[in-house]
Amino acid sequence: AAKEQGRNQMLFFEKRMNASAMRRLLLPNYLRRAVERQEFEVYYQPKQRLSDLEIYGMEALIRWRSPDLGWVPPSEFVAVAEELGLIHEIGTWVLRTACAKAREWQREGCRSMSVSVNLSGKQFQQQDLDATIAAVLEETELPPERLELELTESSVMLHPEESALALQRLKKLGVSVSVDDFGTGFSSLNYLSVFPLDTLKIDKSFVQAMTNDAKNAVLVEAIIDLGHKLGLAIVAEGVETPEQREMLSSYGCDCIQGYILSPPVDAASFKERYLRQG
Ligand code: C2E
Ligand code: MG
Ligand code: MG
Ligand code: MG
Repeated sequence: AAKEQGRNQMLFFEKRMNASAMRRLLLPNYLRRAVERQEFEVYYQPKQRLSDLEIYGMEALIRWRSPDLGWVPPSEFVAVAEELGLIHEIGTWVLRTACAKAREWQREGCRSMSVSVNLSGKQFQQQDLDATIAAVLEETELPPERLELELTESSVMLHPEESALALQRLKKLGVSVSVDDFGTGFSSLNYLSVFPLDTLKIDKSFVQAMTNDAKNAVLVEAIIDLGHKLGLAIVAEGVETPEQREMLSSYGCDCIQGYILSPPVDAASFKERYLRQG
């Protein structure tokens, strides 16, 4: 009878809640289990330098295929993982997996590639982040200059003083640091001159609005100039069309990433497509 009642209750919920509310409700439990059962995978998306069209690096992006929910995008579960305190374990796993893969490909004589890994705000606030990263670099034997860490403006600006120190500790390891989704935060720009940064990644919303909105194009060009004057490299995210690429190229953008090259793909496909030639 209890079982029957549970079933009825479930049906009741199903009728009243839409699918996405249901999913949100179930996500925490499935996510805990996903960590235990290792349901994650790392995909890689190529980045291309515009000056010589070389694929010089890749971004590691987590993928979760839940047996119950199907593919769940990181935009849906990373915040939940932060709330549940699971992001350290998941994030370190991504870091270790991506570094190990980059090192494996280097050992096999594939051509030189850098790998970038996204860090969530909670990971960045972790006191021993630099020790964790140092340990992963040592364990995987990846040269630190091959690793780039991607942080968002908002996670860096939450506690600017602590961030400045944390960034200095990271830079001491020999890794590079980029600002992800640049332009979407609401922070003052002075952090750009204070923090030890290497790269700005222009958010895809700017790139995609650029070709049919002249004012957006002005913003993109200005961001590229600003970055360059501060000694930073510029990567444009979400580049989908030749028109966008030409425009970015004419503005002096250094590198692009986006569906025009490839969506993120699994490690085997990435190797097959981009690492064949020594
Ligand atoms: P992000 O770091 O800004 O990554 C770029 C996102 O844009 C990726 O979405 C990628 O698949 C997507 N993208 C790439 N090229 C294009 C394009 O041409 N057009 C469009 N429309 N989209 C494109 P994804 O993989 O769903 O990741 C979303 C966000 O989730 C990432 O944004 C990042 O903030 C976060 N994330 C992904 N993997 C991790 C991870 O391992 N750890 C942490 N902490 N966050 C992650
Ligand atoms: Mg990123
Ligand atoms: Mg981004
Ligand atoms: Mg993003």
